[in-house]
Amino acid sequence: MSVRHSGIGMTSQRTRMRMIERLRTQGIADEVVLSVMGAIPRHIFVEEALASRAYEDVALPINYGQTISSPWIVARMSELLRNQSDLGKVLEIGTGCGYQTAVLARIAQKVYSVERIGPLLTRTRLRLIELQIRNTHLRHADGLHGFIEAAPFDGIIMTAVTTHVPASLLEQLMMGGRMVFPKGARKQNLCIIERTPQGYTETVLEEVNFVPLLAGVVKR
Ligand code: SAH
Repeated sequence: MSVRHSGIGMTSQRTRMRMIERLRTQGIADEVVLSVMGAIPRHIFVEEALASRAYEDVALPINYGQTISSPWIVARMSELLRNQSDLGKVLEIGTGCGYQTAVLARIAQKVYSVERIGPLLTRTRLRLIELQIRNTHLRHADGLHGFIEAAPFDGIIMTAVTTHVPASLLEQLMMGGRMVFPKGARKQNLCIIERTPQGYTETVLEEVNFVPLLAGVVKR
């Protein structure tokens, strides 16, 4: 076990359990999500200098102008995606540091995750290996194209904000599947789009704050 996992001080299991208690009081009710988040060391997903803040309810910088989503956002989006039932295949757009990816890997059978910034993905791969997470497939690409070879998905989660989701991406949802993402521009809200036999239905939820979805890829 590496030193960073040894559970000293601010990165200990006790600190993580306090985070879980806080999430519960903030309305997160899905015990599966809470127990998964209680088991994954969040501090290894941020720079060492920020490790002591990894369990606070804040978004933290992860380089390249991006942020790791706050624990509450990860919990909320995971519980909305799960919708009380086990997930098969999931697509994540915006891998970033991989914390949400790791959570998804524990609540779904298989996770496909797409990130446009190459160097972020390199670090994330190492973290997932360190945690012995083997049911993820990461790809360096523009996530708006989805992951057509692996479609259809039970769920799609996007962790960057946009005003519009292309139909070609929604078509990668299974019938009965749902996509959870932030929608908007200056004012953003969490949004669920569900695929039903009658078409797509949209539900708008609480206000949130995400970095923008951008087109194209960044190599270095
Ligand atoms: N969920 C991650 C990242 C959140 S930040 C975490 O918590 O660490 C949003 C991420 O989406 C960034 O890493 C950004 O580079 C990525 N992103 C933005 N537009 C994208 C696109 N078109 N395709 C894939 N990833 C994208």
